[in-house]
Amino acid sequence: GTDTDTGTDTRSAPRPAGRHGADPVIDLHGAGKTYRTGTLEYEALRGIDLQIHEGEYVAIMGPSGSGKSTLMNIIGCLDTLTAGEYHLSGDDVSELDEVELAQIRNRRIGFVFQQFNLLASLPAWRNVELPLMYGRVPMHERKQRAIEALERVGLGDRLANRPGELSGGQQQRVAVARALVGEPSLILADEPTGNLDSTSTTDVLGLFDELHAQGRTLVLITHELEVAQRARRIVWVRDGRIHTDEVNGR
Ligand code: ADP
Ligand code: MG
Repeated sequence: GTDTDTGTDTRSAPRPAGRHGADPVIDLHGAGKTYRTGTLEYEALRGIDLQIHEGEYVAIMGPSGSGKSTLMNIIGCLDTLTAGEYHLSGDDVSELDEVELAQIRNRRIGFVFQQFNLLASLPAWRNVELPLMYGRVPMHERKQRAIEALERVGLGDRLANRPGELSGGQQQRVAVARALVGEPSLILADEPTGNLDSTSTTDVLGLFDELHAQGRTLVLITHELEVAQRARRIVWVRDGRIHTDEVNGR
């Protein structure tokens, strides 16, 4: 069309002062998710309102089955809402096509999962370079960046090892390297320490602290209070709803 925008120019509008002056990175409004399995329905998310701003470190807590992973899949554009709205960095996710969603997942978001989700047949550095393959980064640069990411997580001496040759904690550090290799602004971690012993948990949480200090936005899903207390804000989910949303007083 040839419409011209006659509305107010919001770019010149004064913004509220403070660190939350900018628009949120994650903006969920009345977000709902109903799973349909044959004739059965289950309402896993029931009207979630959640805003997360750039640079925040937020833990999402709640009992098993409360909807945490569903929420992470929505935030990470791995699944779509059945009610309400989700804006990611200002984009209405419901209006994006599969190609655009894949680009967002590969370029703007780093994922860490409980089960590590590494490819068993590939050496560590090959696992780490995978997100860069979608970004048309040339091979020599992909390898260099994968090596640097593995060095950052303390695995510079394990580049060529396959996941089966690494401990659980090392595998999760490979997954963290994979999550950060593309320099995404948003890191989503779903129970990243769920399969780790306490030493490896400390290592992985230390890496998240570093990523937060570098200004990245972190959303850490966990059912463990000790893990959640590393974050600056704790959102409790219960039965698909936000129960409390509080600054972590520690
Ligand atoms: P959490 O991560 O907090 O344990 P989930 O988000 O995995 O919770 O699950 C929330 C609810 O949604 C649970 O009752 C679960 O059984 C249900 N659920 C999750 N995924 C699916 C699915 N793909 N199909 C049907 N129901 C699902
Ligand atoms: Mg879960």
